[in-house]
Amino acid sequence: MSNLHNEMALENLYEKVIEEDEKGLIDNLINQTAFETGLHADDNRDKILQKIAEGLFELYDSAPTQAPTLEELEARVCTCGKLIEKCEDAYEHITQGV
Ligand SMILES: [Zn+2]
Repeated sequence: MSNLHNEMALENLYEKVIEEDEKGLIDNLINQTAFETGLHADDNRDKILQKIAEGLFELYDSAPTQAPTLEELEARVCTCGKLIEKCEDAYEHITQGV
């Protein structure tokens, strides 16, 4: 894979992330990323969206056939903002709210 190809793929992912954000589909993922990086969810929105795109890009790059889609990644974030695998009360949070 050439660098140019990589850059284009990353750019495409970034645009997709922006689109999803505009539709309000990845708020949990944004909050989770804000929490992990210490960035502010509103003030540093662009940087957070960039981080999400880079994270997705790394997943695609390391395991192109197994990489989760943005929708699947969002589904892995609990309503409390933690990843489901890291939340001990994920079932209760998702079924009953935080
Ligand atoms: Zn939770």
